[in-house]
Amino acid sequence: MNKKSLLTGLGIGAVLGAGSFLLHDKFCKKKCEYFPFFGEGTEKDIDSSKITVQLTKNPKKKKEDPNEYGFGKYMSDHMLEIDYIDKKFTVPRIVPFHDFPMHPATSVIHYGITAFEGMKAYKDSEGKIRLFRPMKNMQRFLKSARRLCLPDFNPEELLKCIEKLVMIEKDWVPEKKGFSAYIRPIIMGTDQFLGLKPASKYKIFVIISPVGSYYKDGMKGIRLYAQNEYLRSWVGGTGGNKLGGNYAPTLLPTCKGFEKECQSVLFLDKEGKVTEAGAMNCMVIWENENNERELITPSLDDNTILPGITRDSILKLSKESGQFDKVTEGDITIDQLVKAHKENRLFEVFGCGTAAIVSPVIGFKYEGKTYDFAKDGKLGEFTLYLYETILSIQHGETEHEWSHLIEEQD
Ligand SMILES: *Cc1c(COP(=O)(O)O)cnc(C)c1O
Repeated sequence: MNKKSLLTGLGIGAVLGAGSFLLHDKFCKKKCEYFPFFGEGTEKDIDSSKITVQLTKNPKKKKEDPNEYGFGKYMSDHMLEIDYIDKKFTVPRIVPFHDFPMHPATSVIHYGITAFEGMKAYKDSEGKIRLFRPMKNMQRFLKSARRLCLPDFNPEELLKCIEKLVMIEKDWVPEKKGFSAYIRPIIMGTDQFLGLKPASKYKIFVIISPVGSYYKDGMKGIRLYAQNEYLRSWVGGTGGNKLGGNYAPTLLPTCKGFEKECQSVLFLDKEGKVTEAGAMNCMVIWENENNERELITPSLDDNTILPGITRDSILKLSKESGQFDKVTEGDITIDQLVKAHKENRLFEVFGCGTAAIVSPVIGFKYEGKTYDFAKDGKLGEFTLYLYETILSIQHGETEHEWSHLIEEQD
């Protein structure tokens, strides 16, 4: 072979190689040598137009005071179920809320093949039901599923099914501002097999739980236990995906924090960089070392940080607010926080996520020392501004493209 045809051959090879890689990424079609059934593509995707509805004969009694719901204890009357079997999705079905009988070798129980989402439905002043940036949840859900080797599903179709469920359950969405119905989509491997392999069968289901106001006794600040004995995530790990397996290991450091009068953990990495506050993203408002007023949160670059939708929304609102010299996604170390605290440059710290919107931090404990910074327990002004602004968008009081009105269904 002459040099020219060798180069042409290599060129074509590279193009084909890159092309098939892209195809794999997009359609998951490339066969895996070790798990040949995986990634063969889905013959029949989720079809929301075929959804079936079976209504309950025994609706549960709703609470008169929605504050009694608390969080996550009560479930609505129906749920959505879609199974993936033999490379096909079953017809989506809305059925009365029920238990699952489970074969004891079901893969989710043994190897944690499961990922979830957390989103909310809000009622506006006209009684219409709204979601908040729901396609972001669907895309993140798909990304989590891919990390678990689960064949792709169509995120738009799944959202349509969820909307249908939410509309059937709309009386479970409390009317008052600050109240909502928590929506929990979840996916799990359902193979009945003890070998470790990607799931060839899985189930997507969605349950709904009416929730009281997160701040029914008024907004309270929390203190964080800053530590890096137990890591939540690491480079090359799955901290950036909402996988069930990420959460159980956070319980032990959380309990250790409770013993030290801290309500949540500030997870640091081995170098002392801030990652997240419990199961929330972490934001810091300070005067940085260049004397700029800055809002800063760790970047998503190495998949150690969960890409929160509240986080993303706050970054955009902060930029628009014009209150900062700089809004940054970048590194914050615990040493920088301690130094800023000492020099009175640490203004506000808060966690953020769907459940609370924001959770103000009043101080942290690190290596046996306490660093409190909220003066007289006073909560940060910008933290409160963000809470009010996002809540108002969620409930449709402020017109905003992030608020997604669900159309009345036929
Ligand atoms: C879900 C979650 C968040 C917040 O994400 P939102 O989309 O804002 O609800 C932040 N950190 C962790 C670890 C999470 O699991």
